[in-house]
Amino acid sequence: MRMTVIGTGYVGVVHAACMADIGHDVLGVDIDEERIAALTAGHAPIYEPGLNALLARTVKSGRLRFSTSTTEATRFARLHFVCVGTPQVPGGEAADIRHVDAAVDGMAPHLQPGSLIVGKSTVPVGTTARLAARLRAVAPHSEIAWNPEFLREGFAVADTRRPERIVVGVESRRAEATLRAIYKPMLISGVPFFSTDPATAELVKVASNAFLATKISFINAMAEVCDATGADVVTLAEAVGQDSRIGHRFLQPGLGFGGSCFPKDIRAFAARAEELGVGDTMAFLHQVDEINTRQRRRTVDLARNLVGGSFTDRHIAVLGAAFKPESDDVRDSPALDVAAAIRRLGAEVRVHDPEAVDNARRKYPGLQYTLDVPKACEDADLVLHLTAWPEYREISPAELGPVVRSRKILDARDTLDAASWQSAGWTLSALGRPRIS
Ligand code: NAD
Repeated sequence: MRMTVIGTGYVGVVHAACMADIGHDVLGVDIDEERIAALTAGHAPIYEPGLNALLARTVKSGRLRFSTSTTEATRFARLHFVCVGTPQVPGGEAADIRHVDAAVDGMAPHLQPGSLIVGKSTVPVGTTARLAARLRAVAPHSEIAWNPEFLREGFAVADTRRPERIVVGVESRRAEATLRAIYKPMLISGVPFFSTDPATAELVKVASNAFLATKISFINAMAEVCDATGADVVTLAEAVGQDSRIGHRFLQPGLGFGGSCFPKDIRAFAARAEELGVGDTMAFLHQVDEINTRQRRRTVDLARNLVGGSFTDRHIAVLGAAFKPESDDVRDSPALDVAAAIRRLGAEVRVHDPEAVDNARRKYPGLQYTLDVPKACEDADLVLHLTAWPEYREISPAELGPVVRSRKILDARDTLDAASWQSAGWTLSALGRPRIS
């Protein structure tokens, strides 16, 4: 089938490439000319495992092309996926859906009769209904559906090829049939398909993110209780997660969540709940948010204690800049937030990350960056482990020992092997583990 993908960021570029890979004819559209030029040349604008090869293959096949023209988009196809960003409104908590509105409004007058717009962006419940009303006025023979995206950065290609579920919010059998046809290879391989009304589809997405964020903040609240009682949150999480009703995933204590989804999505959900008169019901999300951001402050405070109460003239090595491993995304990165705060408090901060250094440098040019772990740690008074890249677990504490000024490491992700660092003469501290240091 012919389709466009409007917005070629983390979600759009992966969706476009995966759709082309399963045989569709795809035009990726973005207002960012530089991005479109890079994509046309076959260069992925982001780091995602497997994306470079996928892009190269699909662009070469001729099934994936890119453009900056909305008119070309509406001429090219009658099916349009909208994957533009929905950040927080400046100075507020609600979702800023002006890019979604602009994408739909830009296409509406030019749509071919019988067109279907399918939103994938994360939006406040009620958005599809609002846009459908606008569309009826301008393009009465077209319709809009919502098909929220659940991919995880770092696994975006694999998640798009085999999602855990496909949810579509539709107003007609025709829209449902179109979406079933698009996703046929996934449905044949057994991916569950939920066809529902648009409001439910929109809510499935924000409910999923709210639940996951709550699970992370729950275990981080337990980490604080552990710090107050001498208990160990890693053992606690392992034992609690053993209960199959609870499970281990997203029960990892530490510095908490960041990125371009969970923080802004729970705030937007709470703000929308307020508008809908169910603000009190969802008020716990404010607590989830507060517990989460508190972990960043706790990490800064613990680091300051570990270097003797002041960061002045201290050298701090930071391992990790991306908001999560296997990604170059630094949007609302807890690691960079902590690194920047420590620098503001007087420390010299050197940051290592395997993929996110370029993005980090653009956002925080005042920090120092390196692609070499020992260089980051040279003469450090303290090493901070802030993003759980698997390669940090492979570091040899014995080899890193002579590089630093003081063998102290703060494991803010609670994933390093404490015993091996300690046996190499390091003091390892961690959130929620008061007894191990
Ligand atoms: P992004 O910021 O990486 O990409 C958005 C792209 O849209 C940008 O390239 C921007 O230039 C483009 N754009 C903006 N307005 C446009 C317009 N009018 N026409 C064409 N292009 C336009 O955002 P993202 O991370 O890909 O997220 C997109 C949406 O998907 C958001 O709603 C987000 O919440 C949701 N989502 C993101 C993820 C994720 O892991 N990143 C996962 C699931 C859902």
